[in-house]
Amino acid sequence: MLTLKEAQAALLARIIQVDSAQNVPLQAAHGRYVAQALRAAVDNPAFDNSAMDGYALDSADLRAGADLALPLNGESSCGNPPGVLQPGTTMRIFTGAPLPQGADTVVIQENIKQQEDRILFPANITPGAHIRRRGEDFHAGDALYQPGRRLTAFDLALLSSAGIAEVPVYRRARALVIATGDELVAPGTPLKPGQIYESNQLATQVLLQQLGTEAVNGGTVNDDPDTLRDLLNDAADYDFIVTSGGVSVGDYDLVKQVFAEIGEIHFWKARIKPGKPVAFGRIGPRTHFFALPGNPVSSLVTFKLFVEPALIHWHHGRYQRPELKATAAGGFKRRAGRMEFLRARLTVRDGDLVAATLAGQGSHMLAPLRETNGFIVLPEDSSGYGDGDTVTVMLLGVDFS
Ligand code: AMP
Ligand code: MG
Repeated sequence: MLTLKEAQAALLARIIQVDSAQNVPLQAAHGRYVAQALRAAVDNPAFDNSAMDGYALDSADLRAGADLALPLNGESSCGNPPGVLQPGTTMRIFTGAPLPQGADTVVIQENIKQQEDRILFPANITPGAHIRRRGEDFHAGDALYQPGRRLTAFDLALLSSAGIAEVPVYRRARALVIATGDELVAPGTPLKPGQIYESNQLATQVLLQQLGTEAVNGGTVNDDPDTLRDLLNDAADYDFIVTSGGVSVGDYDLVKQVFAEIGEIHFWKARIKPGKPVAFGRIGPRTHFFALPGNPVSSLVTFKLFVEPALIHWHHGRYQRPELKATAAGGFKRRAGRMEFLRARLTVRDGDLVAATLAGQGSHMLAPLRETNGFIVLPEDSSGYGDGDTVTVMLLGVDFS
Protein backbone atom coordinates (compact mmCIF):
# COMPACT_ATOMS: atom_id res chain seq x y z
CA MET A 1 0.00 0.00 0.00
CA LEU A 2 1.19 3.53 -0.75
CA THR A 3 2.32 6.05 1.83
CA LEU A 4 0.27 9.22 1.99
CA LYS A 5 2.86 11.19 0.02
CA GLU A 6 3.00 8.51 -2.68
CA ALA A 7 -0.79 8.37 -2.89
CA GLN A 8 -1.02 12.17 -3.12
CA ALA A 9 1.63 12.26 -5.85
CA ALA A 10 -0.13 9.51 -7.80
CA LEU A 11 -3.42 11.35 -7.42
CA LEU A 12 -2.06 14.69 -8.62
CA ALA A 13 -0.51 13.02 -11.64
CA ARG A 14 -4.01 11.95 -12.72
CA ILE A 15 -5.69 15.34 -12.41
CA ILE A 16 -6.61 17.02 -15.67
CA GLN A 17 -5.90 20.67 -14.91
CA VAL A 18 -8.23 23.41 -16.06
CA ASP A 19 -7.17 25.17 -19.24
CA SER A 20 -9.84 27.81 -19.67
CA ALA A 21 -9.50 31.25 -18.18
CA GLN A 22 -11.64 34.35 -18.01
CA ASN A 23 -11.09 37.99 -17.16
CA VAL A 24 -12.81 39.18 -14.01
CA PRO A 25 -12.89 42.64 -12.49
CA LEU A 26 -10.58 43.01 -9.51
CA GLN A 27 -13.66 43.25 -7.29
CA ALA A 28 -14.48 39.63 -8.16
CA ALA A 29 -10.94 38.26 -8.04
CA HIS A 30 -10.66 37.33 -4.37
CA GLY A 31 -9.95 33.62 -3.97
CA ARG A 32 -9.47 33.09 -7.71
CA TYR A 33 -6.38 31.48 -9.23
CA VAL A 34 -4.30 33.67 -11.54
CA ALA A 35 -4.14 32.33 -15.11
CA GLN A 36 -1.42 34.57 -16.63
CA ALA A 37 1.47 36.53 -15.20
CA LEU A 38 0.14 39.82 -13.84
CA ARG A 39 2.34 42.81 -14.61
CA ALA A 40 2.28 46.19 -12.89
CA ALA A 41 0.88 48.99 -15.03
CA VAL A 42 2.73 51.71 -13.11
CA ASP A 43 5.74 52.30 -10.86
CA ASN A 44 5.07 52.27 -7.13
CA PRO A 45 5.62 54.82 -5.71
CA ALA A 46 4.56 56.55 -8.90
CA PHE A 47 6.76 59.59 -8.06
CA ASP A 48 9.27 60.62 -5.39
CA ASN A 49 7.23 61.71 -2.39
CA SER A 50 7.45 62.48 1.28
CA ALA A 51 7.19 59.71 3.86
CA MET A 52 6.31 62.19 6.63
CA ASP A 53 4.65 65.50 7.37
CA GLY A 54 7.43 68.10 7.51
CA TYR A 55 9.57 70.40 5.43
CA ALA A 56 11.31 69.75 2.12
CA LEU A 57 14.68 71.28 1.48
CA ASP A 58 17.89 70.94 -0.47
CA SER A 59 20.42 69.56 2.01
CA ALA A 60 23.15 71.63 0.29
CA ASP A 61 21.45 74.77 1.67
CA LEU A 62 22.23 73.79 5.26
CA ARG A 63 25.91 73.90 6.08
CA ALA A 64 27.36 73.06 9.46
CA GLY A 65 28.16 76.21 11.39
CA ALA A 66 25.86 78.32 9.25
CA ASP A 67 22.46 79.56 10.37
CA LEU A 68 20.29 76.43 10.17
CA ALA A 69 17.23 78.37 9.12
CA LEU A 70 15.49 78.72 5.78
CA PRO A 71 12.57 80.96 4.78
CA LEU A 72 9.30 79.07 4.30
CA ASN A 73 8.17 79.32 0.72
CA GLY A 74 5.20 77.32 -0.50
CA GLU A 75 3.65 73.95 0.14
CA SER A 76 3.40 70.52 -1.49
CA SER A 77 0.16 68.72 -0.75
CA CYS A 78 -1.25 65.36 -1.84
CA GLY A 79 -2.85 65.02 -5.23
CA ASN A 80 -1.06 67.97 -6.84
CA PRO A 81 1.81 67.89 -9.32
CA PRO A 82 5.27 68.57 -7.87
CA GLY A 83 6.21 72.23 -7.46
CA VAL A 84 9.68 73.78 -7.64
CA LEU A 85 11.70 74.53 -4.52
CA GLN A 86 13.28 77.98 -4.77
CA PRO A 87 16.99 77.77 -3.88
CA GLY A 88 17.70 78.72 -0.28
CA THR A 89 14.12 78.13 0.92
CA THR A 90 12.09 75.31 2.42
CA MET A 91 8.65 74.07 1.48
CA ARG A 92 5.92 72.65 3.73
CA ILE A 93 5.20 69.05 2.67
CA PHE A 94 2.75 66.33 3.71
CA THR A 95 2.93 62.55 3.72
CA GLY A 96 2.46 61.25 0.19
CA ALA A 97 2.85 64.68 -1.44
CA PRO A 98 5.28 64.95 -4.38
CA LEU A 99 8.82 65.99 -3.58
CA PRO A 100 9.33 69.41 -5.18
CA GLN A 101 11.97 69.74 -7.85
CA GLY A 102 15.24 70.82 -6.26
CA ALA A 103 14.52 69.21 -2.86
CA ASP A 104 16.41 66.11 -1.71
CA THR A 105 15.44 65.80 1.99
CA VAL A 106 12.45 66.01 4.28
CA VAL A 107 12.77 67.04 7.93
CA ILE A 108 9.87 65.92 10.10
CA GLN A 109 7.77 68.65 11.62
CA GLU A 110 8.44 67.47 15.20
CA ASN A 111 12.13 68.41 14.72
CA ILE A 112 11.80 72.03 13.60
CA LYS A 113 10.99 75.34 15.20
CA GLN A 114 9.12 78.04 13.37
CA GLN A 115 10.22 81.64 13.79
CA GLU A 116 7.74 83.83 11.96
CA ASP A 117 8.26 82.87 8.31
CA ARG A 118 11.53 81.05 8.91
CA ILE A 119 12.00 77.41 9.77
CA LEU A 120 14.82 76.46 12.14
CA PHE A 121 16.28 73.02 11.46
CA PRO A 122 18.31 70.75 13.76
CA ALA A 123 22.01 70.25 13.04
CA ASN A 124 21.87 66.50 12.46
CA ILE A 125 19.94 66.30 9.20
CA THR A 126 20.47 63.20 7.07
CA PRO A 127 20.47 64.15 3.39
CA GLY A 128 17.87 62.08 1.55
CA ALA A 129 15.83 61.30 4.67
CA HIS A 130 12.08 60.58 4.65
CA ILE A 131 11.72 60.27 0.92
CA ARG A 132 9.97 57.41 -0.81
CA ARG A 133 11.63 56.92 -4.17
CA ARG A 134 9.74 56.31 -7.37
CA GLY A 135 9.62 52.57 -8.16
CA GLU A 136 11.28 51.45 -4.92
CA ASP A 137 8.36 49.06 -4.30
CA PHE A 138 7.92 47.80 -7.87
CA HIS A 139 8.28 49.02 -11.43
CA ALA A 140 5.82 49.13 -14.30
CA GLY A 141 6.15 45.85 -16.17
CA ASP A 142 7.27 43.83 -13.15
CA ALA A 143 5.52 40.43 -12.98
CA LEU A 144 3.76 40.64 -9.65
CA TYR A 145 2.04 37.25 -9.82
CA GLN A 146 2.59 34.03 -11.69
CA PRO A 147 -0.13 31.61 -12.86
CA GLY A 148 -1.53 29.40 -10.12
CA ARG A 149 -1.40 32.00 -7.39
CA ARG A 150 -4.63 32.20 -5.40
CA LEU A 151 -5.48 35.82 -4.68
CA THR A 152 -5.86 37.02 -1.09
CA ALA A 153 -7.06 40.35 0.29
CA PHE A 154 -3.40 41.48 0.49
CA ASP A 155 -2.99 40.62 -3.19
CA LEU A 156 -6.00 42.76 -4.09
CA ALA A 157 -4.34 45.70 -2.36
CA LEU A 158 -1.14 45.18 -4.33
CA LEU A 159 -3.00 44.74 -7.63
CA SER A 160 -5.03 47.90 -6.98
CA SER A 161 -1.84 49.86 -6.30
CA ALA A 162 -0.40 48.49 -9.53
CA GLY A 163 -3.33 49.84 -11.52
CA ILE A 164 -4.72 46.43 -12.45
CA ALA A 165 -8.49 46.55 -12.85
CA GLU A 166 -9.06 43.18 -14.48
CA VAL A 167 -7.46 39.84 -13.77
CA PRO A 168 -7.23 36.73 -15.95
CA VAL A 169 -8.20 33.83 -13.67
CA TYR A 170 -8.87 30.16 -14.20
CA ARG A 171 -12.45 29.07 -14.37
CA ARG A 172 -13.74 27.83 -11.02
CA ALA A 173 -14.10 24.08 -10.64
CA ARG A 174 -17.72 22.90 -10.45
CA ALA A 175 -18.24 20.13 -7.96
CA LEU A 176 -21.30 18.01 -7.25
CA VAL A 177 -21.61 16.80 -3.66
CA ILE A 178 -23.65 13.69 -2.90
CA ALA A 179 -24.31 11.87 0.35
CA THR A 180 -25.32 8.22 0.22
CA GLY A 181 -27.09 6.08 2.77
CA ASP A 182 -30.57 4.69 3.45
CA GLU A 183 -30.27 5.84 7.06
CA LEU A 184 -29.70 9.54 6.34
CA VAL A 185 -32.25 12.30 6.78
CA ALA A 186 -31.86 16.05 6.76
CA PRO A 187 -31.97 17.97 10.03
CA GLY A 188 -35.45 19.42 10.47
CA THR A 189 -37.14 16.07 10.00
CA PRO A 190 -37.87 13.92 13.08
CA LEU A 191 -35.76 10.76 13.15
CA LYS A 192 -37.46 7.41 12.74
CA PRO A 193 -35.86 4.39 14.39
CA GLY A 194 -32.60 3.52 12.66
CA GLN A 195 -32.22 6.89 10.99
CA ILE A 196 -29.49 9.48 11.60
CA TYR A 197 -29.00 13.05 10.51
CA GLU A 198 -26.90 13.58 7.40
CA SER A 199 -23.86 15.67 8.32
CA ASN A 200 -21.30 15.51 5.50
CA GLN A 201 -23.06 17.28 2.66
CA LEU A 202 -23.06 20.87 3.87
CA ALA A 203 -19.59 20.75 5.42
CA THR A 204 -18.17 19.30 2.21
CA GLN A 205 -19.81 22.03 0.15
CA VAL A 206 -18.33 24.73 2.37
CA LEU A 207 -14.87 23.14 2.29
CA LEU A 208 -15.11 23.14 -1.51
CA GLN A 209 -16.22 26.77 -1.58
CA GLN A 210 -13.32 27.73 0.64
CA LEU A 211 -11.03 26.32 -2.05
CA GLY A 212 -12.58 28.59 -4.67
CA THR A 213 -14.81 25.88 -6.10
CA GLU A 214 -18.46 26.15 -7.04
CA ALA A 215 -20.19 23.44 -5.01
CA VAL A 216 -23.58 22.07 -6.02
CA ASN A 217 -25.78 20.18 -3.59
CA GLY A 218 -26.57 16.83 -5.19
CA GLY A 219 -28.63 15.80 -2.18
CA THR A 220 -28.77 12.49 -0.41
CA VAL A 221 -29.38 9.27 -2.31
CA ASN A 222 -30.42 5.90 -1.02
CA ASP A 223 -28.15 2.89 -1.25
CA ASP A 224 -29.61 2.12 -4.64
CA PRO A 225 -27.38 1.98 -7.72
CA ASP A 226 -30.12 3.12 -10.11
CA THR A 227 -30.77 6.34 -8.22
CA LEU A 228 -27.09 7.16 -8.07
CA ARG A 229 -26.62 6.30 -11.74
CA ASP A 230 -29.48 8.64 -12.68
CA LEU A 231 -27.91 11.41 -10.67
CA LEU A 232 -24.59 10.91 -12.42
CA ASN A 233 -26.09 11.11 -15.90
CA ASP A 234 -25.18 14.76 -16.07
CA ALA A 235 -21.73 14.12 -14.58
CA ALA A 236 -20.11 15.72 -17.63
CA ASP A 237 -21.30 19.11 -16.35
CA TYR A 238 -18.93 18.79 -13.40
CA ASP A 239 -15.19 18.85 -12.91
CA PHE A 240 -15.48 16.96 -9.64
CA ILE A 241 -17.99 14.69 -7.98
CA VAL A 242 -17.54 14.11 -4.28
CA THR A 243 -19.63 11.46 -2.59
CA SER A 244 -19.61 10.21 0.95
CA GLY A 245 -20.53 6.75 2.15
CA GLY A 246 -21.02 3.48 0.35
CA VAL A 247 -17.36 2.68 -0.25
CA SER A 248 -16.49 0.52 2.69
CA VAL A 249 -16.00 -3.20 2.49
CA GLY A 250 -19.11 -5.09 3.56
CA ASP A 251 -21.28 -2.16 2.64
CA TYR A 252 -23.50 -2.31 -0.40
CA ASP A 253 -20.43 -0.89 -2.12
CA LEU A 254 -22.78 0.87 -4.43
CA VAL A 255 -20.77 3.99 -5.08
CA LYS A 256 -17.71 2.13 -6.26
CA GLN A 257 -19.86 -0.16 -8.36
CA VAL A 258 -21.62 2.71 -10.14
CA PHE A 259 -18.41 4.66 -10.67
CA ALA A 260 -16.76 1.55 -12.10
CA GLU A 261 -19.64 1.18 -14.56
CA ILE A 262 -19.63 4.71 -15.90
CA GLY A 263 -16.02 5.73 -15.35
CA GLU A 264 -12.56 4.48 -14.56
CA ILE A 265 -11.54 3.93 -10.95
CA HIS A 266 -7.97 4.50 -9.81
CA PHE A 267 -8.28 3.29 -6.29
CA TRP A 268 -5.97 4.95 -3.80
CA LYS A 269 -5.30 3.13 -0.65
CA ALA A 270 -2.93 4.94 1.59
CA ARG A 271 -1.63 3.65 4.87
CA ILE A 272 -3.52 6.27 6.87
CA LYS A 273 -5.98 6.38 9.74
CA PRO A 274 -8.75 7.47 9.69
CA GLY A 275 -9.61 6.97 6.08
CA LYS A 276 -10.88 3.69 4.84
CA PRO A 277 -10.22 3.23 1.14
CA VAL A 278 -11.03 6.34 -0.82
CA ALA A 279 -12.05 5.70 -4.39
CA PHE A 280 -10.74 8.17 -6.90
CA GLY A 281 -11.21 8.13 -10.64
CA ARG A 282 -12.59 9.84 -13.69
CA ILE A 283 -15.74 9.80 -15.75
CA GLY A 284 -15.24 10.91 -19.34
CA PRO A 285 -12.48 13.32 -20.26
CA ARG A 286 -12.62 15.69 -17.33
CA THR A 287 -14.92 14.68 -14.46
CA HIS A 288 -12.88 13.55 -11.48
CA PHE A 289 -14.63 11.74 -8.70
CA PHE A 290 -13.86 11.06 -5.10
CA ALA A 291 -15.87 8.54 -3.13
CA LEU A 292 -15.09 9.42 0.46
CA PRO A 293 -16.00 7.29 3.45
CA GLY A 294 -19.26 8.07 5.20
CA ASN A 295 -18.01 8.39 8.74
CA PRO A 296 -17.92 12.13 9.31
CA VAL A 297 -14.37 12.31 10.60
CA SER A 298 -12.99 9.98 7.93
CA SER A 299 -14.78 12.07 5.35
CA LEU A 300 -13.26 15.29 6.68
CA VAL A 301 -9.74 13.89 6.96
CA THR A 302 -9.77 12.30 3.51
CA PHE A 303 -11.16 15.54 2.08
CA LYS A 304 -8.22 17.47 3.54
CA LEU A 305 -5.67 14.88 2.41
CA PHE A 306 -6.96 14.05 -1.07
CA VAL A 307 -9.70 16.35 -2.36
CA GLU A 308 -8.03 19.57 -1.24
CA PRO A 309 -4.69 18.94 -2.98
CA ALA A 310 -6.56 17.73 -6.07
CA LEU A 311 -8.62 20.91 -6.30
CA ILE A 312 -5.68 23.21 -5.73
CA HIS A 313 -3.70 21.35 -8.38
CA TRP A 314 -6.66 21.43 -10.79
CA HIS A 315 -6.56 25.25 -10.55
CA HIS A 316 -2.75 25.19 -11.13
CA GLY A 317 -2.12 26.11 -7.50
CA ARG A 318 0.66 24.67 -5.40
CA TYR A 319 -0.47 22.42 -2.58
CA GLN A 320 1.62 22.74 0.52
CA ARG A 321 0.73 21.65 3.98
CA PRO A 322 3.90 21.76 6.00
CA GLU A 323 4.12 19.72 9.12
CA LEU A 324 5.25 21.69 12.13
CA LYS A 325 6.62 20.65 15.49
CA ALA A 326 4.69 21.07 18.71
CA THR A 327 5.03 19.96 22.29
CA ALA A 328 2.52 17.30 23.30
CA ALA A 329 0.27 18.10 26.23
CA GLY A 330 -0.57 14.61 27.50
CA GLY A 331 0.48 11.32 25.98
CA PHE A 332 -1.09 8.94 23.48
CA LYS A 333 -0.44 5.23 23.01
CA ARG A 334 -1.29 3.03 20.03
CA ARG A 335 -0.14 0.14 17.91
CA ALA A 336 2.33 1.19 15.19
CA GLY A 337 1.32 0.56 11.57
CA ARG A 338 -0.47 3.35 9.77
CA MET A 339 0.15 7.05 9.58
CA GLU A 340 -2.49 8.51 11.89
CA PHE A 341 -4.21 11.86 12.10
CA LEU A 342 -5.39 12.61 15.61
CA ARG A 343 -7.81 15.44 16.06
CA ALA A 344 -6.03 17.95 18.23
CA ARG A 345 -6.30 21.32 19.88
CA LEU A 346 -3.29 23.50 19.21
CA THR A 347 -2.55 26.38 21.52
CA VAL A 348 0.41 28.69 22.02
CA ARG A 349 2.29 28.70 25.30
CA ASP A 350 5.18 31.14 25.74
CA GLY A 351 5.34 31.48 21.98
CA ASP A 352 5.55 27.74 21.29
CA LEU A 353 2.92 25.43 19.84
CA VAL A 354 1.36 22.97 22.24
CA ALA A 355 -0.81 20.13 20.92
CA ALA A 356 -3.35 18.15 22.91
CA THR A 357 -5.18 15.13 21.55
CA LEU A 358 -8.93 15.53 21.99
CA ALA A 359 -10.95 12.93 23.81
CA GLY A 360 -13.12 10.85 21.47
CA GLN A 361 -11.06 9.87 18.44
CA GLY A 362 -13.74 7.55 16.99
CA SER A 363 -14.37 8.46 13.37
CA HIS A 364 -18.11 8.70 14.05
CA MET A 365 -17.62 11.29 16.84
CA LEU A 366 -18.26 14.90 15.91
CA ALA A 367 -18.27 16.71 19.25
CA PRO A 368 -14.43 16.92 19.37
CA LEU A 369 -14.51 18.76 16.01
CA ARG A 370 -15.61 21.84 17.98
CA GLU A 371 -12.11 22.08 19.41
CA THR A 372 -10.19 20.72 16.44
CA ASN A 373 -7.83 23.21 14.83
CA GLY A 374 -5.19 20.75 13.68
CA PHE A 375 -4.04 17.17 13.60
CA ILE A 376 -1.25 15.46 15.44
CA VAL A 377 0.37 13.35 12.75
CA LEU A 378 1.82 10.03 13.87
CA PRO A 379 4.30 8.40 11.49
CA GLU A 380 3.75 4.76 10.60
CA ASP A 381 6.32 3.40 13.03
CA SER A 382 5.11 5.46 15.98
CA SER A 383 3.57 3.70 18.93
CA GLY A 384 2.53 7.00 20.45
CA TYR A 385 4.18 9.69 22.48
CA GLY A 386 4.53 10.88 26.03
CA ASP A 387 3.60 14.12 27.72
CA GLY A 388 6.10 16.83 26.73
CA ASP A 389 7.42 14.96 23.69
CA THR A 390 7.85 16.79 20.40
CA VAL A 391 5.16 15.77 17.92
CA THR A 392 4.40 16.63 14.32
CA VAL A 393 1.27 18.66 13.71
CA MET A 394 -0.72 19.81 10.73
CA LEU A 395 -2.55 23.12 11.09
CA LEU A 396 -6.01 23.46 9.65
CA GLY A 397 -7.11 26.80 8.29
CA VAL A 398 -3.64 28.22 7.74
CA ASP A 399 -2.58 28.59 4.14
CA PHE A 400 1.13 28.10 3.41
CA SER A 401 0.77 27.73 -0.36
P1 AMP B 1 -20.49 4.07 4.96
O1 AMP B 1 -19.21 4.71 4.51
O2 AMP B 1 -21.65 4.32 4.04
O3 AMP B 1 -20.30 2.62 5.25
O4 AMP B 1 -20.87 4.77 6.33
C1 AMP B 1 -20.04 4.65 7.46
C2 AMP B 1 -20.72 5.28 8.66
O5 AMP B 1 -20.91 6.65 8.42
C3 AMP B 1 -22.11 4.74 8.96
O6 AMP B 1 -22.27 4.74 10.36
C4 AMP B 1 -23.03 5.75 8.33
O7 AMP B 1 -24.30 5.79 8.93
C5 AMP B 1 -22.28 7.02 8.53
N1 AMP B 1 -22.56 8.00 7.48
C6 AMP B 1 -22.46 7.78 6.17
N2 AMP B 1 -22.75 8.88 5.47
C7 AMP B 1 -23.04 9.83 6.38
C8 AMP B 1 -23.44 11.17 6.30
N3 AMP B 1 -23.56 11.79 5.11
N4 AMP B 1 -23.68 11.84 7.45
C9 AMP B 1 -23.54 11.24 8.64
N5 AMP B 1 -23.15 9.97 8.78
C10 AMP B 1 -22.93 9.25 7.68
MG1 MG C 1 -23.58 3.85 3.84
